[in-house]
Amino acid sequence: MSQPAVFLDRDHTLIEDTGYLNDPAGVKLLPGVELALKSLAQAGYRTVVVTNQSGVARGMVTEEMIAKIHVEMCRQLEAHGAKLDAIYYCPYHPDGTIEEYARESEMRKPWPGMLLQAAKDLDINLLESWMVGDRPRDVEAGQRAGCRTIRIRFGTAPIAGEAQDEDIQADFTVRNLVEAARIILRESVALRPPHGESGQPAGLPPPAVAATSQTPSPAIQPSGDADGLSDRQIRLEVLRYIRQLARAEDHHEEFSLSKLIGGVVQVLAILALIIALWRMATDALGQAQLWATLGVALQAMALTFFTMHRGR
Ligand SMILES: [Mg+2]
Repeated sequence: MSQPAVFLDRDHTLIEDTGYLNDPAGVKLLPGVELALKSLAQAGYRTVVVTNQSGVARGMVTEEMIAKIHVEMCRQLEAHGAKLDAIYYCPYHPDGTIEEYARESEMRKPWPGMLLQAAKDLDINLLESWMVGDRPRDVEAGQRAGCRTIRIRFGTAPIAGEAQDEDIQADFTVRNLVEAARIILRESVALRPPHGESGQPAGLPPPAVAATSQTPSPAIQPSGDADGLSDRQIRLEVLRYIRQLARAEDHHEEFSLSKLIGGVVQVLAILALIIALWRMATDALGQAQLWATLGVALQAMALTFFTMHRGR
């Protein structure tokens, strides 16, 4: 039985994009990535990286170094209990300076070659799959493979010569992989029929000659097919992870000790000013002045704490 997958761009989707990364020490997972991957695997998705690595063709990084970088990325994920099912990368680019890699390739996004190859290798149902990435070429590759698409837009600068945003529209736009996973799980719960099996897409072009290298995760486990679980159990697990994701993000975005203290001090400031007005009304002007001064000081403190919260 074929499984759905979530195809993932690498740079600026899973790890920080430092530009032609060529050192495993520079691998840094983006916040929440491990939680998103775990939730997707738990929901029955294979997770497959498809990444353009034109730095190989440009002579800026070797395939051996890319393999080391991917081992380090998988190690960091594994340390958090997450994993990837496979990693595909395309080392080719028509403007490359290394002769053997200096050519166009159908594996290179925006072409869908890597996704099609992965579908063949891992028995993936492309019509139930998703492509997540930060560039228009990621979205285009996903659309050409017949997948639904999510674009991560937060903080991504445009690349000269790349397709204009208005030409390539993803199904959803989000700020990070956590939000993308939440959408995928939500849509899965809403749309996927119980024990659904829609078969392989018809009419897809055959994969091109393999122009990518596949670097299996060092600790690949069989992807979670939820065998042995009832449909109700699967749905409950998915809902549990959706709530877990929501709590994680809400906690990250909303909770702040400085905001809490600011709120308390704000209340005290208002109380002090009310007392000042009351003392003024009872002709206790000396006390009114003291309470007013205290109120103003507390208000200033409250504003300071609110500023600290916003500046995090
Ligand atoms: Mg990227």
